[in-house]
Amino acid sequence: MAQQLNHHTLPILSIGALGGTVSMRANQPGAGATPMITGEALLDGISQLHEGLDVHIETLCLVPSASLDFNLLLEVLIWAQEQVKLGVQGVVITQGTDTLEETAFFLDLLWSDDVPLVLTGAMRPSDQQGADGSANLTDASRVALDAQSRKRGVLVVMNGQIHQALHVRKSSAMALEAFNSALFGPAGLIIENRVIYLRKASARTVLPMPRSTHHKVALLLATLSADTVLLEHVLALGYDALVVSAFGAGHVSIEWVDLIDQITTEIPVLVATRTGSDSTAEASYGFIGGEMDLIDRGALMCGFLCPYKARILIWLLIGAGLGREVGKHLQRLGFKATEG
Ligand code: ASP
Repeated sequence: MAQQLNHHTLPILSIGALGGTVSMRANQPGAGATPMITGEALLDGISQLHEGLDVHIETLCLVPSASLDFNLLLEVLIWAQEQVKLGVQGVVITQGTDTLEETAFFLDLLWSDDVPLVLTGAMRPSDQQGADGSANLTDASRVALDAQSRKRGVLVVMNGQIHQALHVRKSSAMALEAFNSALFGPAGLIIENRVIYLRKASARTVLPMPRSTHHKVALLLATLSADTVLLEHVLALGYDALVVSAFGAGHVSIEWVDLIDQITTEIPVLVATRTGSDSTAEASYGFIGGEMDLIDRGALMCGFLCPYKARILIWLLIGAGLGREVGKHLQRLGFKATEG
């Protein structure tokens, strides 16, 4: 993917395009949008910004973001690291929004450079009224080039807001304001083309690159009157860890308790809240299947970390041979209520 950049004196920015709605339009009326706009064509939308700027743009793939995967993201990471070595001041990745909260967190856990890595996308395809792709890409580029964005890891820029990878969630399927950082709020804003941070950069956790990528982490959703069939087969199917997207503050039904107890003796079991906001508890409920009971049985509470991000954390840790350290990382990432 790497390519030599020209020698220059102007600030330089590298943009890697992966696909998603920002790269989509319909082939013919009524056909439905598909990814077909290359990175080079995306650049036309931000001509106002890149006049006088040396921008390097590369189409790394053209897929809907549901079809991105961890192996591909590791390649994207290496590409972004190469851009930094070539001297860019910022890197932007454009992709679909469906998995943006997950890809941002995945890349953030591995991004050790001070140079900003900024992810963005669009909620409306480029051929729709009010398409937001160009505005988001322009904002993301400004953020990536801004010195205040350094040492903040991976940032998500959408709809005039800057979000930290750790906190950002996609919480609406269709709205332009689909992204938020729930209780934490955005890390910053883009107002009148200026990048304004609301908080200082905070200490980050950076993990080693995974040495293996063949392991599997199951994610099971607790629902009312759920059966136990999938849970019964987690170990036999060879999963290396289990994340439970649990009710409320980290609760499951009485039927799930013995199975979880058994699974914790073999593999890590992480319990996150399925509610979309706030934290799991540790010492509030004493019923069977409550968080205190699950902790006693060896499960680990994820705090503010959502189930999707908990799955990424344990997958990366296992890949780096650090699965046993998950409790320590959950304390640092999941229970970090503030950024200071
Ligand atoms: N709806 C998606 C998007 O906003 C499609 C995708 O994630 O690729 O980009």
